[in-house]
Amino acid sequence: MRNVIIRLWSVALRPLEVNGRFFVFMGLLGTLCIVFEPWDSLRPLSLIELLPDLYIVCALLCVLPHKARGVVRWLLSTVAYIVCLLDCFLFVRTGAPMQSSVLRAMLATTPSEASEALHAYVVPSVLLSPVGLIVVLAILHVLLTLRPSLCPTWVSRFCRRWGAPLLLACIPLCFVASFTNRHYMFHRLLLAQRDTELPQHIMDVTIKTGYYTPLHRLWHCWLEVRHDGQTLDALASSVSMAQVDSCSYTSPNIVLIVGESLNRHHLSLYGYPLKTCPYTETLAKDSGLIVLTDVVTPWNYTTEALEHMFSLYSFGDKGFWTDYPLVTTLFRRAGYHVQFISNQYVINPPKNTGSLLDTGLFVDSTLSSIQFDRRNATTHTYDEALLQDYDSLSQWRTEKNLTIFHLIGQHIEFGDRVPDGWHRFKATDYHRPDLTESQLDILADYDNATLYGDYVVSRILDRLKDENVVVIFLPDHGERSFDGCQTYGRSNSMALNDVQQQYEIPMWLWMSKSYRQTHSDIYNAIKRAKDLPFMSDRLPHLLIGLAGIQSPDYKPSHDLLHVQYNARQARRLRGEYDYDSLCTTTTQ
Ligand SMILES: [Zn+2]
Repeated sequence: MRNVIIRLWSVALRPLEVNGRFFVFMGLLGTLCIVFEPWDSLRPLSLIELLPDLYIVCALLCVLPHKARGVVRWLLSTVAYIVCLLDCFLFVRTGAPMQSSVLRAMLATTPSEASEALHAYVVPSVLLSPVGLIVVLAILHVLLTLRPSLCPTWVSRFCRRWGAPLLLACIPLCFVASFTNRHYMFHRLLLAQRDTELPQHIMDVTIKTGYYTPLHRLWHCWLEVRHDGQTLDALASSVSMAQVDSCSYTSPNIVLIVGESLNRHHLSLYGYPLKTCPYTETLAKDSGLIVLTDVVTPWNYTTEALEHMFSLYSFGDKGFWTDYPLVTTLFRRAGYHVQFISNQYVINPPKNTGSLLDTGLFVDSTLSSIQFDRRNATTHTYDEALLQDYDSLSQWRTEKNLTIFHLIGQHIEFGDRVPDGWHRFKATDYHRPDLTESQLDILADYDNATLYGDYVVSRILDRLKDENVVVIFLPDHGERSFDGCQTYGRSNSMALNDVQQQYEIPMWLWMSKSYRQTHSDIYNAIKRAKDLPFMSDRLPHLLIGLAGIQSPDYKPSHDLLHVQYNARQARRLRGEYDYDSLCTTTTQ
């Protein structure tokens, strides 16, 4: 038995003995990046995760023949140093590590542009930053590989006698402690699954380390760029197929306000006990604003929700959303001036953001120029500043306009969306003994952000009240905010309560006084349709109907206000779950 244990121990020790120098230098390289780049992760846990990850690489190297092993080690080290240098350099110079938008720009850069960028950004002082430490480490690694005798004998002896056995003893513990993230990385990086495709048990776990090394980040960015590229290629050909036969300009001015993460059940407009939307409530009583009562979104993720909101594709149609034209291009072809005023997506976003994800639909410059005549250049801390963008773009407006406001709304973290003076709701306003004080603060933040959002909408409508205009408001999706649970944010769970908080969304239409007077038929059609089931992926057909655009891509059966609207068509969440039967079967 003792012999078996000794044998197993020596086999387990072999990856460290055979690849000792590689293990030490790659470990130091990873440690430098973890320590000096404040990535969105827990650094001690990242260090714990690094050990078993490196051990696995070294174990795989042991499978190779001696000569091939040396070559592969050399290749891996070179790639690791280059990627870490690039990532660290980006962090030092731009304040954010590698992101998909940066990688996309790098891949599209010509040699002369790359040379100019290198001259502009690579300055000697950068060597005084952590980038310099990585350079020193790389030089040391090369020197010791070429001349192993430069390493003092006592160091080699210590590593062999104590270092390797101690590390090996720690690795099983580290492996277990970091298993969750490795499981997550397996699905995200090796299976290339997007967040929306992850199994529920992975979604339920709080990810503490994520893409904790530059190599993880680069691979993730590459997957994102590849996905965006496939999407944009498909869209480019669909967009060019958009066909407009004629347009009656029934509604010469249409304003679409797209909110963010807005839970219908937190609106007093829909019966929430706290007065979170006093302004829109007043408008609803004065008849200019009609509330739709049965609207859902097909996705609880911004990217997917917006893609389906702008594409003429609806669930039940053949193919994918990228196979259909975009409503914005159709409006432009019909002669409308299309403005996009967004507090989330601008072209060439300023330095980061923390998120690695982008929505190619709105940040790709070619696609943007096909969709929009004008858009704002920068995002703002609070949504009210979008009014300034609207005013500065007003000189370009024409007789026929489609204006799209895209708010940051109640995007997590909710407290960041509430300016000073808007913290009206407090933890003491809620009778929720099941929640902690900090959870109650978050809940109050959410409701305060909703109250502020109502004010922002009031400012927009105030600008429009003297025009002949119809306004449509809806968010991309809802959000959990401690409703029937002790948590907030989004999940892939399809339990009824989670579905109701995330997929049931508010939606209303508001008509200015002159619009109501001149469009009584539309006003009455909206009143008739207000309780009909609707899903936000059919929005383009509603907009096209309001504008009076004649196009082979328009489907009256998807247009809520058309007499041929089919209220019985299935509303499939995530393209899979039938919302109506989910509600029926769960409540029975
Ligand atoms: Zn969103």
